[in-house]
Amino acid sequence: MSASGGTRGVVHLVGAGPGDPGLLTARALELIAAADVILYDRLIPVTALDGARPDAELIYVGKEGRGPQMPQEEIDRLLVEHGRAGKRVVRLKGGDPFVFGRGGEEALVLRAAGVSFEVVPGVTSGVAAPAYAGIPVTHRERASAVALITGHEDPDKPESAIDWPALAAFPGTLVFYMGVKQLPRIAEQLIAGGRAVDEPAAVVERGTLPGQRTVVATLATIAERAAQEAIRPPSITVVGPVAALRDEGIGWFEERPLYGRTVAVTRAREQASGLAARLRELGALVVETPVIKVVPLAAQIDADCFASPPDIEAVYDLICFTSPNGARLFFDRLADAGLDARALYDIRIAAIGPATARALRDRGVLADVLPDRAVAESLVEALGDWPVDRALIARARVARDVLPDALRERGAEVDVLELYETVAEPLAAEQRDAIRSADYVTFTSASTVRNLLGALDGDAAALDGARLASIGPVTSEALRAHGLEPSLEADPHDVDGLLDALVADVIAKN
Ligand code: SAH
Repeated sequence: MSASGGTRGVVHLVGAGPGDPGLLTARALELIAAADVILYDRLIPVTALDGARPDAELIYVGKEGRGPQMPQEEIDRLLVEHGRAGKRVVRLKGGDPFVFGRGGEEALVLRAAGVSFEVVPGVTSGVAAPAYAGIPVTHRERASAVALITGHEDPDKPESAIDWPALAAFPGTLVFYMGVKQLPRIAEQLIAGGRAVDEPAAVVERGTLPGQRTVVATLATIAERAAQEAIRPPSITVVGPVAALRDEGIGWFEERPLYGRTVAVTRAREQASGLAARLRELGALVVETPVIKVVPLAAQIDADCFASPPDIEAVYDLICFTSPNGARLFFDRLADAGLDARALYDIRIAAIGPATARALRDRGVLADVLPDRAVAESLVEALGDWPVDRALIARARVARDVLPDALRERGAEVDVLELYETVAEPLAAEQRDAIRSADYVTFTSASTVRNLLGALDGDAAALDGARLASIGPVTSEALRAHGLEPSLEADPHDVDGLLDALVADVIAKN
């Protein structure tokens, strides 16, 4: 019996796109999230399976390193078996399932076995890799047709399937898949068939991925240039006048400001995604190396201290939120107490930092007080001479006492609600290696500094090769306390400031 409720199984032949997770289709993501069983290949985006159900069966059917591929008959057998068992099966393939993906063969096998299937096209690498390299495969003046050709990476496979003279005569762009080892032969054959020696040609390695590399040359020189640059699979080769457009101004992906830079993100996984996504958009290869994690505490909200039901004596007149985590968890605990945002309707709300204000807004609450600088001192200042009789501070267990002390000094009664603590998260050996080889390591709080050094067993020398990016003065001080000098410090002290400072640093270093 399947999660789909006992209806007959369906096998979905799904394209996962060329590698950039953003090029997975909406339908692919939806099916991955619903699947009982996923059979997946090697060249799928690294994050493609993140949305799979925790209880889904994930079966790798690609090549093990340089080892053999699972035999196609075995893959066919698994597809039929799971389909017949009434499961929702996703057969996830790189690019498009029907473009050199054996999707056609698998569909025939399923049909013969009486198993229903659906085909979900994907963005094929033969179009996407050139696009990310700044090469449109068609162009009004330069190519009105495009041919997709397999270059047969495996030298044992017969090549007779390709009619070289016909291909050489093809009036348009030639796009070769799987052609790296065969590149010298491909070029030779095309020239022998009458293609011009000076026709533009390009090879795109790891297209759409952060490590994408492109070599542009001519048909006569492309094989040699690719060899010089040690181009490896997966690569797409494009032959045709369109290949010159990259250097005529269409190149873009490899020109983004952080292209080719590896940036380590040390903040807690729960918070890293925003920063990581922004870094990727700027072209960086992001390694997530969280050294802290957020653990919610069993905090209890006293329902009597809120204006619902009205109790004039007890209610707070100010709630201060000092972090996005605090804001999120406060509303979770509020719900536990049987309350929602309406309980805050006449309580003044203060937020430290724009991200905290955003977290509040996500819960339908706009902060009344948002200090210019994201520190407690600034919040106390921003309150001006608003009277505060009773305040609640929603925050982490270990935090500076500047805020409660200052409010008490102004005569307020202050409760501190400890909602979470950040605890050290150890790094796996590969994550420590990734830190050692990163171009930049980002620090977004003093605790990321302390805990990274903890995770590296105090070995500050591991950071010698990297530039250290600090979000602000408190974090920079923590670095200096460990004998490390920040290479750059964000101003303003937030994620935007950090990204700007990183880009400025890359430009300055070039
Ligand atoms: N069905 C896939 C192709 C599978 S054949 C699709 O539609 O894209 C595998 C070949 O695809 C590789 O040898 C390589 O030539 C190409 N390929 C896949 N991903 C690629 C990428 N990110 N960059 C360049 N080429 C890629």
